[in-house]
Amino acid sequence: MSKNPWDRSPVEVLRAGPGFRLESFDPSATPGWSDDKDDGTERMRDQGERLADLQEMLFAEGRSGGTRSVLLVLQGMDTAGKGGILRHVVGMVDPQGVDHASFGKPTDEELAHHYLWRIRRALPQPGRLGVFDRSHYEDVLVVRVEDLVPPDVWGARYDEINAFEAELVGAGTAIVKVALMVSLEEQKARLMERLERPDKHWKYNPADLAARAKWPAYRSAYQAMLDHTSTEIAPWFVVPADHKWYARLAVTELLLDAFERLGLRWPAPTYDVEAEKHRLQAT
Ligand code: ATP
Repeated sequence: MSKNPWDRSPVEVLRAGPGFRLESFDPSATPGWSDDKDDGTERMRDQGERLADLQEMLFAEGRSGGTRSVLLVLQGMDTAGKGGILRHVVGMVDPQGVDHASFGKPTDEELAHHYLWRIRRALPQPGRLGVFDRSHYEDVLVVRVEDLVPPDVWGARYDEINAFEAELVGAGTAIVKVALMVSLEEQKARLMERLERPDKHWKYNPADLAARAKWPAYRSAYQAMLDHTSTEIAPWFVVPADHKWYARLAVTELLLDAFERLGLRWPAPTYDVEAEKHRLQAT
């Protein structure tokens, strides 16, 4: 595919800017993309090849003393498709260059530390693509909805998270924050599928229904998160996720954009290439 088939850049159209309202967001839309699913899948394959090349360049840069990295932060309600993004988008690049971490309910050890302690330990190494399946944002989402700490405690975290991310960006980590939004109807269908298919039973957790029942509270918590932490240096992208192919294509494009902005180059060799050719010939 030679020409860019997006009507509007996903980076522009999915970015949560001032005035963004989840209330009027349509999780079944495909913003910026008017072609069909097959075209989307084809575009994703092409862009995936480019992504894999750039990720290899970043890896090579890291091996040559570079300190930069990219961090993909994935948030979303159950069934929003975080796992699919990992398999289908992150899965397109060489796993050697990926540092993956998922954040569930904190352990006793984690709870004994500041909430960013476990996050800092999981940050990507230089040259790597880090992927957070859930993140420090749970500390202003589930923690807020479930009243796990008092409001003044979670309320102070937005600024603290912004300062933390500014520190990361300053140290050379490009952050791509993605909130996957699935509609209540689509979530119901996906949960039902998990119950109907024996090969999906393992994915179903009876506790998921409790979070589903609290969707209005989660929506408020997500809205506050977007209002306070979609910053210039680390904006949120809100990705409609009812169409899995669209969400995967969009995240591929968002990641690729972050890699393109790094202006990566293959590192110059630290040896004399011609001399090495001669040496090799002589063997
Ligand atoms: P997923 O739903 O992401 O596929 P899962 O159902 O397999 O994951 P885990 O990954 O073990 O479950 O844990 C996810 C759960 O942990 C979510 O319900 C999430 O809200 C909760 N969680 C994550 N971070 C925190 C936190 N800081 N405090 C409390 N609960 C948290």
